[in-house]
Amino acid sequence: MNPLVGGIEAGGTKFVCAVGTGPDDIRAEVRIPTTTPQETIGLAIQFFESQRIKLGPLAGIGIASFGPIDPQPGSPKFGYITSTPKPGWADTDFGGAVQRALGLKVGFDTDVNVAALGESRFGAGRGLDNLIYLTIGTGIGGGGLVNGKLMHGLIHPEMGHVRIPHDLTIDPYPGHCPFHGDCLEGLACGPAIGARWIQPSDELPPDHPAWALEAHYLALALVNFICTLSPERIILGGGVMSHAPLFPLIRREVQRLLNGYVQSPAILKDIDGYIVPPALGNRSGVLGAFALAQQLR
Ligand code: ZN
Repeated sequence: MNPLVGGIEAGGTKFVCAVGTGPDDIRAEVRIPTTTPQETIGLAIQFFESQRIKLGPLAGIGIASFGPIDPQPGSPKFGYITSTPKPGWADTDFGGAVQRALGLKVGFDTDVNVAALGESRFGAGRGLDNLIYLTIGTGIGGGGLVNGKLMHGLIHPEMGHVRIPHDLTIDPYPGHCPFHGDCLEGLACGPAIGARWIQPSDELPPDHPAWALEAHYLALALVNFICTLSPERIILGGGVMSHAPLFPLIRREVQRLLNGYVQSPAILKDIDGYIVPPALGNRSGVLGAFALAQQLR
């Protein structure tokens, strides 16, 4: 039986806070608009205080945070949102504030690492120790597990900002990233699609050439991740991925670009089961936060 825990999925527009043990047992949930750190984190703490009176003690709190963050336990700034451009949130001791107010152990990691953990524990990556999760929406982020552990290191992965080939004769759009211009996020996030085609991405019809180009860029990045990390599965979430033609286009393009080189049945024969949507829908983050809290010792 998994212990009762709290989870926070902290996004740039809202926080989702929940208490439960797993996907079939979410006992309370609340959404809080992301305003100032003091107000938003304060309301999240109030929610958990009131829930543990109603539901009983919590074994810990997991936090899936927008970033960049410091996810390294033992680092002086562990639990901090560090250099985010979001006004008021840079250098915020988010994990520490929750830990001190509730007196509970706190797990703290990137939104995408935690979503990967959630899918690995409860969803589309169940039982796999090596997988990656990417979200493609207003930005692009990626995280995952290697040998069953969330990927850290220097800081944490920034898979959205890999550089990919950009043929300016086919696509003269210069890119959307304020740091790099035409990195993956700069070329393939939702706002980049909208700016390139001068039409919001969710209004483009399924047969629009935008989708083949989008699939090409995402496939280029996935091929890099397959060749460097050798994930056993790739999970793609986020608003852009809800467009119907994208999954089949990306799968075919990944196979074309790899050209038979990576000799795995997952890629050669079962790519439909290899590049997949999240099984937990938009709950990968908050359920991953449960999993993060449950693995605290
Ligand atoms: Zn970038």
